[in-house]
Amino acid sequence: MFRQDSPVASVAPRCANPIPILMYHGVEDTPLPANHKHLYVMASEFARHMNSLKRAGYQAITLDDVVASQKDASILPEKPIVLTFDDGYANLYRNVHPILGELGYPYTVYLVSGKIGQTSDWDLAEGYVARPLLKWREIHRMHRDGHAHFHPHSITHPRMAQLSPQEAYREMSESRDVLAQEFGVAPNHFCYPFGSYSDVTRDIAAELGFVSAVTTEFGRVRPTDDPLRLPRISMYHVPYLSFTYGIAPLNFWWRIQSREDRRDRRSLRR
Ligand SMILES: [Zn+2]
Repeated sequence: MFRQDSPVASVAPRCANPIPILMYHGVEDTPLPANHKHLYVMASEFARHMNSLKRAGYQAITLDDVVASQKDASILPEKPIVLTFDDGYANLYRNVHPILGELGYPYTVYLVSGKIGQTSDWDLAEGYVARPLLKWREIHRMHRDGHAHFHPHSITHPRMAQLSPQEAYREMSESRDVLAQEFGVAPNHFCYPFGSYSDVTRDIAAELGFVSAVTTEFGRVRPTDDPLRLPRISMYHVPYLSFTYGIAPLNFWWRIQSREDRRDRRSLRR
């Protein structure tokens, strides 16, 4: 499994299991139009995912833990998992927050700072419906409960790689500052809207002091991964049978799907 000839592998702790960062968007009560399938799961399905993970012994960790584990893998539980929710849909308040509180699972919501309490109007241009987003009042209640963590996902949800460096800087820095003002502490994890990033935006994230940034590239996190280009696992792509017939095949499935023995994960970019 570990390449003896790789100088990085000799530094990286051998015991570190790859960490799955799950990517969710909305968690809905009623189905959305058919072309939205990759943008949501039903609330009942989400509950089944979480209960299955708990039964299988997965322990949710935070993105701070992920970053820390790249230096010291011994801090990781045997079966770590990270839960992320892009865009901050209003239904998280009802369909995600309570169940994760009960399970004792921390989770991260990436907020579009210029759209709080409005709708996901960037979805319209993609041919999707605009859905309601969390209000500050709800965000603060969730934050106070302790297991919800909020980090920026830009001001307006643009494709970062298509922006000028100045615009990209502004989207990242101002969305960070808005959240810093609300919570009294600067957020340090970023999520590239549409998974769109470039070497330039990656370097801006570093300059602004973000310690991690997630993409939509498929895979689990390994100790050698660049923390500012972390891959995730879109829950749309997890086969329903994994949760229907038991979670045991998930490890095998994740490994196959993310082709973790491939050096260049970029070939899998969608
Ligand atoms: Zn998004």
